[in-house]
This record gives sequence, C-alpha cells and structure tokens, in this order.
Amino acid sequence: MKQNNFKIAVFAGDGVGPEIMKEALKILKLIANKKNINLQLAEGLVGGSAYDHFGVPLPDSSLELALQSDAIMLGAVGGPKWEALDYSLRPERALLGLREKLGLFANLRPVVAFDELLDASPLKKNVVHGIDLMIVRELTGDVYFGKPRGVTKGKDGKRTGVNTMVYSEDEISRIAVRAFEIARTRKKNLLSVDKANVLESTELWRNVVTEVGRNYPDVTLKHMYVDNCAMQLIRNPAQFDVIVTTNLFGDILSDEAAMLTGSIGMLPSASLGENTALYEPIHGSAPDIAGLNIANPLATILSVALMLRYSLSMPQEASLIEKAVADTLKEGFRTQDIHQQDKKLIGTEKMGDAVAKNLCKLLN
Ligand code: NAD
Repeated sequence: MKQNNFKIAVFAGDGVGPEIMKEALKILKLIANKKNINLQLAEGLVGGSAYDHFGVPLPDSSLELALQSDAIMLGAVGGPKWEALDYSLRPERALLGLREKLGLFANLRPVVAFDELLDASPLKKNVVHGIDLMIVRELTGDVYFGKPRGVTKGKDGKRTGVNTMVYSEDEISRIAVRAFEIARTRKKNLLSVDKANVLESTELWRNVVTEVGRNYPDVTLKHMYVDNCAMQLIRNPAQFDVIVTTNLFGDILSDEAAMLTGSIGMLPSASLGENTALYEPIHGSAPDIAGLNIANPLATILSVALMLRYSLSMPQEASLIEKAVADTLKEGFRTQDIHQQDKKLIGTEKMGDAVAKNLCKLLN
C-alpha cells in the first residue's frame, strides 16, 4: 500500500530562509490537503539561528529530528552576523554536519531553462533553449576526504601541499545505481564524466559505472572527459539529460551548469542518502535582501517538487508543481531578481500565492 504518512523536518535557517520556506510550505500543505497526505511538519533550528539559541550551528535536537524524518527541507544558513565565529561554529558547518551524519552521498541539481526566462542567461537564447539536465554529483568521497592531506614542511624549509583523490568500488557503484535509476525516470541517457585518461581513480570510476550499466540495458550510457564536458555545457547544453560525476568535478560542473539559466533564485537541489534526503535551494541566505519580502521563493518551491519525486513517491504531483511554476512565469509574474520590462513585479509572498493558485487549478 502506498505510504501516506510522512514526517518532514523543516529548517528555515537564516536570512531569507524563513520567507522562502513559508511559501514552499504553502505549496506542500496544498498538495497534502488535496491528496489526503498526512504530513507532520516538525520545525527545528540550524545555522546562525541555532547558534544564537544553543551556541552551536547544529544542535543535537535538530540532528535527531533530521534522523527521524522521511525528508528534510532547508532554507539557507549564514550571514555577516556570524562571520567572525570560529569555523567550527559557523552556520555553514550545520550543512556539512547534516551531510555527514545523514550520509547524503548523492547531490542532485536539475537545471531547466524556462522559456520565459531565456533572456536571463548569459548565453544566447538559441543555445539555452531546451535545457533540461540533471547533474548527479557524488558528495562524500574524492579529494575532499581522501588521506593523506595537508601541508608539510621539508628539511629545506619549503612547504608541500597534498590531497588524495580516492574512490572505492562501492562508493562508485552506489552513486552509479542512483544515477541510472534517475535516468530511467527521464530520457534514459546517462553521461558519466571522468578524467580516465590521466587519473587512475577515475579510470576505476569509468569501469565501475560501465559494470553497473549492464543492469540497466534500457539506459544509454556514454562517457566524457571533464574538460570536454565543461566545454560542451557552454557549447550545447541542451544535449545533456543526466550527468553523473565525482565530487570535485561535480562541484565545478554543477556551478557552471547553474549559471546557464542565469537565475540563482530558480534552482533547487536534493542531497540523497540511503535512508533520508535533504532538499534546499542552491542559493545562500541572501542577507542583503532578507526581511524585505522580495526574495524569489521558486527555487525552494521547486525543491518541494524534488522532495515529492525522490522521497515521497509522488512524481505526478512533483510535475504539477513544476508546471504551476512555469504557468506563473507565463502569466508574467516576476520577483525582482528575474524581472524584465513589461512583466508584473511581485514580492515573495505574492509569488507563493500565484503558484498556489495555478497549482490549485491543476489539482482540481
Ligand atoms: P547568496 O546566494 O546568499 O546571494 C548571492 C546573491 O544572489 C545576492 O545578491 C542575493 O541577494 C541574491 N539571491 C540569492 N538568493 C536569492 C533569491 N532567492 N531571490 C533573489 N535573490 C537572491 O550568496 P552569498 O551572498 O555569497 O552568501 C550569503 C550567505 O549565505 C553567506 O553566509 C554564505 O556562507 C551563505 N550560503 C549558504 C548556503 C546554504 O545555506 N546552502 C549556500 C551558499 C551560501
């Protein structure tokens, strides 16, 4: 029987976090009401607001809440108020702590070019048109965690810096399985990105992804070197469906891909583990516009769609949210960050209302 009871941890965070989360929850509650889903929304503190209250950015109570939830919604953390703190106490440490403790090993970043926003891209309209890609980045391995690491001083007094690029077979097959499964729900094209011509750890990456691919004969698997992929993302980004890659390459390629559409306030993300997942917009806490009711809530609303698709087994409802966002843009509604001449400038709350209204029409 399909599950219809879910516990969702809600961490609004700092800066614009509470404003954009309010609109995202509006959409989530609407779906729950219309589809008779029993949602338990449990709010907790992370980031700077948690530091102010508990003296740490990720209190045990919040971690416990995250561990007990089916999924986690996060706004954003950080801001100038906490910048002078020791690194271990900075708001951003909460994100690293959650990733580590929840074992969030797969980071998903969809990039979709909405027809109405093609002008926002730094690239030509005809290049951006039709972009609908998903980057699946491995998140817990590679050179960021490999040992040995550090800076040492030799007898001659000169320093040497070292980091280790390392991947085990199991780490690679785990992310490959996720990527193939995701490709299966899309256009069934998976591109694995590596540097197998010069780096042995990514030669293993290529071999293991190929081996996993034998279980997915319905998905077309191709390989590409990372330098070529960086170029192709600018030359012809619409050619891609799903891209799976290592932590380091994914870090760089996903930021490059994010810029293709030119609007940071539009891009959602998901970080998946074995037992739970975290959903958040890719942007930060935007302290420069916090409290002004002008932040774009669409990235967070689109993160709700990802949560429905990847954690709550509600792919149709996820697509309806995405369609409601597209319809709202078609009607000409814009927050300040994506505003163009002749469009209707509205604030955070009104944008949430406009999407909710369109979603209601689609759900009826
Ligand atoms: P940022 O993403 O917060 O803001 C960059 C620029 O984009 C700003 O001009 C901001 O106003 C604008 N912007 C961001 N989101 C927007 C939205 N939804 N609508 C309209 N405009 C938006 O990046 P930053 O300024 O480098 O960082 C601010 C704080 O956020 C820092 O403390 C940083 O460490 C933190 N941060 C947190 C996360 C996270 O929580 N996942 C990610 C990145 C940065």
